Amino acid sequence: MDITVVGGGLAGLTAAIASAELGANVTLLEAHRTLGGRARSTEPPYVANDGPHVLYSDSAPYAWLDRRGLVPPSKALPLRAALGVRWRYRDRIGGPPSPVLRAAARRGLRAPHDQEFGAWAEERLGAEAARAVGSMMGVVLFHAEPARLSAAFVWDRFLRVTSPRWPSARYVVGGWTALVDHLAEKAREAGVRIQTRNRVTELPEGTAIVATSLDSARALLGDASLTWESGHTLMVDLGLRRRDRDPFLVFDSDGCGFLERYTVVDPALAPDGEDLVQAQLPVRPGESRAEATARMEAFLDLALDGWRARGTWRRDQVARGRTGAVDLPGTTWRERPAIDRGGGVYLVGDSVAAPGMLGEVAVTSAVRAAELATGGGTARPGAPGRAAAR
Ligand SMILES: Cc1cc2nc3c(=O)[nH]c(=O)nc-3n(C[C@H](O)[C@H](O)[C@H](O)COP(=O)(O)OP(=O)(O)OC[C@H]3O[C@@H](n4cnc5c(N)ncnc54)[C@H](O)[C@@H]3O)c2cc1C
Repeated sequence: MDITVVGGGLAGLTAAIASAELGANVTLLEAHRTLGGRARSTEPPYVANDGPHVLYSDSAPYAWLDRRGLVPPSKALPLRAALGVRWRYRDRIGGPPSPVLRAAARRGLRAPHDQEFGAWAEERLGAEAARAVGSMMGVVLFHAEPARLSAAFVWDRFLRVTSPRWPSARYVVGGWTALVDHLAEKAREAGVRIQTRNRVTELPEGTAIVATSLDSARALLGDASLTWESGHTLMVDLGLRRRDRDPFLVFDSDGCGFLERYTVVDPALAPDGEDLVQAQLPVRPGESRAEATARMEAFLDLALDGWRARGTWRRDQVARGRTGAVDLPGTTWRERPAIDRGGGVYLVGDSVAAPGMLGEVAVTSAVRAAELATGGGTARPGAPGRAAAR
């Protein structure tokens, strides 16, 4: 059968490979001149990811990619780097705050999806822990108000990030562009025809997997209901002359941000003697970009001694509605826009009805769409789509 995949980001490339593996003739159409979408990185000498930072190796989507040789060379967190993990708490930089440690010890707690995280956590863990835990989860939520998200959504991610099996994080060597290049090569080897600079303005005839943002999908499918809550964050990437005492990573338990010194894991991401730091801080409702930038710079002042004088490169961006789905009270991933739109049209990406965190939702939905589009009879056991979507 013939399948057209619209969009060549992580979801589109995965859907194309999975569909080809299941026997389809696949054409992938990408609007931009390069593949990758949000998984692109800047060109050297500063290789800064446009958004994503790590793959989490403790997940079914990672296992699915890994089994097929689709994960390029990557590195786990070195012990030296793990020792450099810090928290911002009450405007000081230090080790894990005690309310966070006490909360992490309550691993048996299960949170409901129909209650706000703030109210639920305050009752179970106390007001201080509710605030510190919610804010530190900015690392995967990219949202200024974790307290008003579903309790289950925030708490499940906290348990995952603080898992005793930590660190599951894998850093792609060469930045996420290396992952995109690797997936594109595997897709071509599997027979997928790839056309870039091809913006699709009408749904293609026949079976189609739409792997664009929800905004583009809403226009393509003519369906105004294709919306979901997502994050809104300021991202600042910095080249800095190296100072070995800089922390490797800072969870911001005051302001929901985080920063990471990527060159500790992959020195080639910046010129010799320099570090690449990526920081993000969610924008508050009604806050201007200048105000968010001032808060970000105050965070950098606390975390990175003398960063202003050491700067060699800087890029500022704002991501709105681009950081994946967040679930409000009363909703779970099951209520998000469905993958199967009827009539041979499927919708994939990180804001659709599939479980997981961030890019995992994109991979899981892509594999599931490929199974549905092709009849799915030959999917291997353990594939994230079928197994995880039950
Ligand atoms: C700040 C930030 C941090 C993140 N951190 C992580 C992380 O640590 N780990 C993780 O797993 N994920 C992370 N993510 C999420 C991850 O980046 C996304 O989940 C993933 O890249 C989404 O891929 P996608 O293919 O669904 O969408 P996209 O990457 O948006 O791809 C959609 C593609 O469709 C194309 N397109 C759009 N419209 C059309 C059209 N009409 N015709 C043809 N093509 C079209 C676009 O050009 C684009 O290439 C982060 C995201 C951000 C913003």
